Amino acid sequence: MRVLVVEDDRDVARQVETTLRQAGYVVDLAHDGEEGGFLGESEPYDAVVLDLGLPVVDGLTILRRWREAGRDMPVLVLTARDTWREKVTGLRAGADDYLAKPFELEELLARLEALIRRAAGRASPVLEHGPLRVDPGTTRVTLHGNLVELTAFEFRTLSYLMHHHGKVISKTELTEHIYGQDFDRDSNVIEVLINRLRRKLGTALIKTHRGQGYQLVTPRDAS
Ligand code: CA
Repeated sequence: MRVLVVEDDRDVARQVETTLRQAGYVVDLAHDGEEGGFLGESEPYDAVVLDLGLPVVDGLTILRRWREAGRDMPVLVLTARDTWREKVTGLRAGADDYLAKPFELEELLARLEALIRRAAGRASPVLEHGPLRVDPGTTRVTLHGNLVELTAFEFRTLSYLMHHHGKVISKTELTEHIYGQDFDRDSNVIEVLINRLRRKLGTALIKTHRGQGYQLVTPRDAS
């Protein structure tokens, strides 16, 4: 899962980035409204954390532009403390949730997870697929109840496939959601990651559609 954080307070931005990275997310940072607005318009994100008070272009303007352009990723806005007007305006401009500053990083993480899972049409916090369970809150993965150790990239790949299970996901889409903006992306790495996941979780779980991509399938469909 890839998240954009637009926040001009560099300390807050760094804390949010660290928290999200530790929780297994890929994070792109922008420190002003122009850069943040551009990234949100041009890159695929699974969620955005958007400060409203930003230099160059303010958060509300960016948010309205995204929504007008049909960008529908979940957006959590950060508002100044106790300004109910800002919260209301933010929600009306297309925000999905808000958090007033100062906030607890744990709360930000929990709200973001809830937004991402609702965007994927799920109510349960734990991703389940046959005998496989992925808990985005703890990055814990179990298969038939046994803990499976995954690297950060393996976890991101699996988590993205779990959020979109049943759908065929192209290598390009996977690459865009498991790497940050500045990363030198190599789609051959995806094959390696998929093969490592198959070794750890069983070969029947991830189906290859030649020339199209990968699909998480229920083991009985996979034989
Ligand atoms: Ca600010």
